[in-house]
Amino acid sequence: MSVTFAAELPDGTDNRTFLIVCDSTTAPLAHIVGYAEAEVEAQAHGLLCNRCADYGAEIREEFAEGDPVPVNVANANAVELLQLLGFDLDLQDAAVSPLGDPLPEMVGAIAARLFLDRVDVALSGALDVNDCGTTPLTYRLGDTDRTGAIVHDFGRRPGYLTDRLRQLRDLALACEARGLRVVWD
Ligand SMILES: [Zn+2]
Repeated sequence: MSVTFAAELPDGTDNRTFLIVCDSTTAPLAHIVGYAEAEVEAQAHGLLCNRCADYGAEIREEFAEGDPVPVNVANANAVELLQLLGFDLDLQDAAVSPLGDPLPEMVGAIAARLFLDRVDVALSGALDVNDCGTTPLTYRLGDTDRTGAIVHDFGRRPGYLTDRLRQLRDLALACEARGLRVVWD
């Protein structure tokens, strides 16, 4: 489960370009405009290729210089980033992860300039950002009957939040240059 920060599609038009990639060849199978179209192509390839039969071919977004690059983070990290950026999350009524972390609804859209301002405040050192990382942890769900799934929480390295904030800053700048909002879900 994760949250992706990205540029809003202009007028709902998806003119992003995607590569269709299969492990069996080094060259991409196709360049496709629009994610929905890329999915159709990837699934169609899966009908013809044993390696890709289960999930279809891989879809990889292509970026040119200055394109807004999406930032994808795990839910627990998204909670911290959005809080650092000063967004109100409804932690009270949120669902809870197996570790007991609240998982609120994380969907939003905001003008790129306003998003950039929030990122700059978070990066300025004005906030007390705890970015010393978290320890990896392995535990079992439903530990009373010893039948639950084993969960590996990989933890977070020191400096992670700062690195993500810098990526969000690049995203916001690219969005602002194109007059697009920053969205996340
Ligand atoms: Zn294939």
